[in-house]
Amino acid sequence: MLNDSHCHFFSANFFATLSRQRGKGDSVEALCRELQWDDPGTAEALADRWVRELDARGVARSALIASVPGDEASVGAAVAKYPSRFVGFFMVDPSSEDAVTDAIVTQGLRVACLFPAMHHVALSDDRVERVVAAVAAHPGTAVFVHCGVLSVGVRKKLGLPSKFDLSLGDPLSLTRLALAFPRLPFIVPHFGAGMLRETMMAADVCPNIHVDTSSSNSWIRYAPGWTLTGVFKTAMSVLGPSRMLFGTDSSFFPRGWQQGVYESQRTAATEAGISESDQNLIFGGNFDRLFSL
Ligand SMILES: [Zn+2]
Repeated sequence: MLNDSHCHFFSANFFATLSRQRGKGDSVEALCRELQWDDPGTAEALADRWVRELDARGVARSALIASVPGDEASVGAAVAKYPSRFVGFFMVDPSSEDAVTDAIVTQGLRVACLFPAMHHVALSDDRVERVVAAVAAHPGTAVFVHCGVLSVGVRKKLGLPSKFDLSLGDPLSLTRLALAFPRLPFIVPHFGAGMLRETMMAADVCPNIHVDTSSSNSWIRYAPGWTLTGVFKTAMSVLGPSRMLFGTDSSFFPRGWQQGVYESQRTAATEAGISESDQNLIFGGNFDRLFSL
């Protein structure tokens, strides 16, 4: 059983938001043509396409991330159509009045995603604590916190500025929040995206901090000798098998679900000596435990 805890839902509204940010007046269709990606159509049509893709790849359930603030309704439509297949995640900018409660209660989404480096709001900021408290008020929810290196491929491709302050993405600054909300799961994607040691330190003192394994994890080139197998071994020794969530970071079509990312992680987990039953947790069971139907 395979569940993917990190897929992006690149909806028409997502592309329309990027087009507005670029200010050249491109339609969604024109933007997709420029990117050489498929036009997503309606949120329901994109949800249908994702379900067909997951079926073809043998993936039971996946996260779908609303990847700009304000796109909660697109993922909400996908989740409403396929509640047993998708878990809705949504990006929150704590510096604006984002309606966390509305996303959770009205749209049925479950995970608020914080990008401190992108939104220039430190995790120690009171506004972040208010966002987290609003999430924690609802059972079956979690908070995703992007730490470490951040690069958004689609922004680069479109020539959009990415004025990120990476110093705000230190996993150690997550510990205060995670300890303040001990029953709320926190997920740090990509093993901390370059800040593996700090992520392990934070997770060692906060039993509610999880990692996702998603993306190609090309950050391993930042330190001499790091390998994905070694990363899996380290995470196993500190977090154990119950706090690692498999993910691919799949996003656009026609590329679709990233089979190659899955296969390299499966190989690394096996090379790391992780047993079949522990791999079952990492590649599916933990997701079902955190996001029970
Ligand atoms: Zn991602």
